[in-house]
Amino acid sequence: MIYDNHGRPITYLRLAVTDRCNLRCFYCMPAEGIQYMPKKELLTYEEMLRMVNLMASMGINKVRITGGEPFVRKDLMYFLRQLRQIKGIQDINITTNGVLTTEHVPELKQLGISSVNLSLDTFDRDRFKEITRRDEFDKVKACFDQLNAHRIPTKINAVVMEGKNTEDIIPLAELSRNHLVSVRFIEEMPFNGEGSHYPVLVWTHHKILQKLKERYSDIQKIKDAAHSTSYNYHIPGHKGEVGIIAAFSRTFCGSCNRVRVTAQGTLKTCLYDDGVLDIRQLLRSGVADEEVKNAMKNAFRQRPKDGFEAESLRKFSNPASESMSTIGG
Ligand code: SAM
Ligand code: SF4
Repeated sequence: MIYDNHGRPITYLRLAVTDRCNLRCFYCMPAEGIQYMPKKELLTYEEMLRMVNLMASMGINKVRITGGEPFVRKDLMYFLRQLRQIKGIQDINITTNGVLTTEHVPELKQLGISSVNLSLDTFDRDRFKEITRRDEFDKVKACFDQLNAHRIPTKINAVVMEGKNTEDIIPLAELSRNHLVSVRFIEEMPFNGEGSHYPVLVWTHHKILQKLKERYSDIQKIKDAAHSTSYNYHIPGHKGEVGIIAAFSRTFCGSCNRVRVTAQGTLKTCLYDDGVLDIRQLLRSGVADEEVKNAMKNAFRQRPKDGFEAESLRKFSNPASESMSTIGG
């Protein structure tokens, strides 16, 4: 097990397998999209597998596959099968927008994927189109149904945006009534390729909770899992749960066990840093595994204490404003 310089174990890798996406979510990228990396600048699957193997030998036991949209990358299922073989990786999770995912759900079940986070900010077709700038609601709904049918533990990720989907908070929470899902409401962060949408964030975790309490006065706080980024609640009579992620307020940094690698192989030891190690360059330089591991260990041991410190240390763009599609969420 490896610990960072603040005594936090590092056990969780979030790996973006592509920066490309088939949606254009308002909170993630501009309508015209972002400048995608040339393919040769993205890590190959073989490079990712080598890197995950090395990280597993250092104590990382959980990997989340994200992007961009992971299922946009060719042969993702081949990669997941290989990833499944890596000793030490106990949990593989996926975050997806669901547009291309449905047909793969049976194999995801077979592979023992631990959970799928499905991004869905509204259950209203028109608002879905407005927020994602694409008319793909039916495919995402089909994916939700398919995940349920296969009993794959599913979390719904909904970013709460002033003027866009606040009327969806209760309908989305209602999904937890008859489904074994966790519906998580996320504070909007400035990672949209342009910068913050508001001078002050209106829909903070406090306000989201207040909205839930107005409708569900008996909502109960439940115990959060270790390293959980969400505050979790149970509504009496509901099968599932609801959660709130204070992603902008950054209340969860004290127990953060995660690192990120972008699709081009940049290591981020905090969501709010602007990259601390070029793993792709190391992997392509022909150095031995030990050297790659040592470089990663050094980076893990120089983590900022929280997202505010990380943001203040940024070298390239400050404040943070890159698209979440390049970071992976
Ligand atoms: N394309 C996949 C998807 O949407 O699920 C995976 C990548 S996406 C960048 C990962 C997560 O980041 C999604 O759940 C999305 O809602 C969240 N996200 C993207 N931009 C965000 C932002 N500006 N603030 C908060 N969450 C954001
Ligand atoms: Fe694509 Fe996911 Fe970003 Fe939406 S949040 S644009 S689906 S990467």
